[in-house]
Amino acid sequence: MAETYDTIIVGAGSAGCVLANRLSADPRHRVLLLEAGPRDTDPWIHIPLGYGKLFKKSSVNWSYWSEPEPQLNGRKIFTPRGKVLGGSSSINGLVYTRGQPEDFDDWETPGWSFGELLPYFRKSEDQARGADALHGRGGPLSVSDQNEPHELCDAFIEAAVQAGHPRNPDFNGERQEGAGYQQLTTRNARRCSTATGYLRPVMRRANLTVVTEALASKVLFEGTRAIGIRYLNDAKVIEANAQREVVLSGGAINTPQLLQLSGVGPAALLREHGVAVVLDQPHVGEHLQDHFQARIVLKCTRPITVNDDMQSLWRMARMGLRYAFLRKGPLAVSAGYAGGFWRTRPELKRPDVQTHFLTFSLDRMGEKLHPFSGFTASICQLRPTSRGSVRIRSADPRDPPAIRYNYLATEHDRRTMLEGMRLLRRILDQPAIRPYIAAEYLPGARVQSDDEWLAYFRETGSTIYHPTCTAKMGTGAGAVVDSHLRVKGLAGLRVVDASVMPAVVSGNTNAAVIAIAEKAADLIDSERGRRPS
Ligand SMILES: Cc1cc2nc3c(=O)[nH]c(=O)nc-3n(C[C@H](O)[C@H](O)[C@H](O)COP(=O)(O)OP(=O)(O)OC[C@H]3O[C@@H](n4cnc5c(N)ncnc54)[C@H](O)[C@@H]3O)c2cc1C
Repeated sequence: MAETYDTIIVGAGSAGCVLANRLSADPRHRVLLLEAGPRDTDPWIHIPLGYGKLFKKSSVNWSYWSEPEPQLNGRKIFTPRGKVLGGSSSINGLVYTRGQPEDFDDWETPGWSFGELLPYFRKSEDQARGADALHGRGGPLSVSDQNEPHELCDAFIEAAVQAGHPRNPDFNGERQEGAGYQQLTTRNARRCSTATGYLRPVMRRANLTVVTEALASKVLFEGTRAIGIRYLNDAKVIEANAQREVVLSGGAINTPQLLQLSGVGPAALLREHGVAVVLDQPHVGEHLQDHFQARIVLKCTRPITVNDDMQSLWRMARMGLRYAFLRKGPLAVSAGYAGGFWRTRPELKRPDVQTHFLTFSLDRMGEKLHPFSGFTASICQLRPTSRGSVRIRSADPRDPPAIRYNYLATEHDRRTMLEGMRLLRRILDQPAIRPYIAAEYLPGARVQSDDEWLAYFRETGSTIYHPTCTAKMGTGAGAVVDSHLRVKGLAGLRVVDASVMPAVVSGNTNAAVIAIAEKAADLIDSERGRRPS
């Protein structure tokens, strides 16, 4: 006999764990949370620098590859996504930024302006710096400062100031522009994922059932009403009923895949793969937006980088001991120690590119560190105009979908990346950081002209892991969900995750997804007559 719940949430990632916590706060409300991956027992999840170890670890990572990218010499782009309790918040780079207020205002969706979302950012946060009008204290998501400064980061920030950019101690404060240290989602130098922040404290609630290694394969419909979920667990096919609704929180790649597998998507695509059409919705899986990134790698004049730490057993041991006893050192650092937000042209009103500054270097993320002292500074474009798609390749839920990013498809995006890299090089040419630079290793001085830069992007550029917008929210024709995140044209089905962003935010996406889920929980509560918390 099928199990029965009030709400079934698919995916225990950034959004799913928030929802599981908030919706199960009412003991009468029975919640089932399904997660395709395992529990978050891998020790590297909890050590900040461990993200490097998890980058390609298929036990906790979907490890997708894109289709050949037309503008990137036909390269397939490796696409990590968390497949574990906490989802991508368990494997991400821990950088905490919210984006710009204008991002949310520009969504032009009733209820989702920055002013209306700010209470949910604040509600989610346990901000080490304390509460004020823009920051929250006492929430489940611990937001910390880097545990100690690093002289390379200090030099980078000073160099940015010398290049004419403001110093910025808080990218989530009054203004985003400028250079500074990153904040990170840690508590006592351990990762604060949504699994540790939101889910773990409520796991014992009698009305919350969490099933791991459970791959949802189909939303079950009665006509156009979602009534439950079919999932695979331990080689068994199980069905669960949802008396109120099914909420999809599988992330911007998996949610459109599951919608399409369930008959909600472009009719021609569904028919091509033998899926019966429940709702012909051409926008499911379309409008994929992501941040494209290119990097400059510098050889350092002094042995002060993580590369150096990893070359010597003694230094590795010291690194381990400093972390174990003092909660300091490279093991406690996020995937962006410092960084900045810049305007590539003075007439722009707000930053259009972002830098992540790292005290290590490698050829490609997830690979071995360079054997020399090295560090990295990158540029990603914050509001790309190129759009891609996610489409099923077959009716088998275990087949990865076809992911097409279409990076650099527009002249605007190519120009912004070019200008961003030139801006970054100007920062790296300032007196404060020059003494630390032995040579530019990548791309190297040979790359100067537009064509040379573009060739470099095509050869090496990649994702910074922020896919969004594949089941857009909005009031217009391209929207898949309405302003309450309900799938238009159907009943009993909602999407709450990065897919619903109408446009990607200008920064790292985890904080915005968590705020979206906090607000969604309130919307769901208010719809069922419960006072929002
Ligand atoms: C390597 C990496 C680094 C990143 N770095 C940063 C960073 O430093 N800062 C930042 O702000 N953001 C970062 N991000 C992005 C950020 O983590 C994501 O935007 C955010 O976590 C997305 O949340 P989500 O809820 O949409 O999806 P996810 O957190 O990915 O959660 C989706 C969950 O659903 C599960 N699932 C999917 N399909 C099914 C199914 N059919 N059945 C059952 N379960 C399913 C998945 O296994 C997963 O656990 C990074 C992401 C990655 C991958």
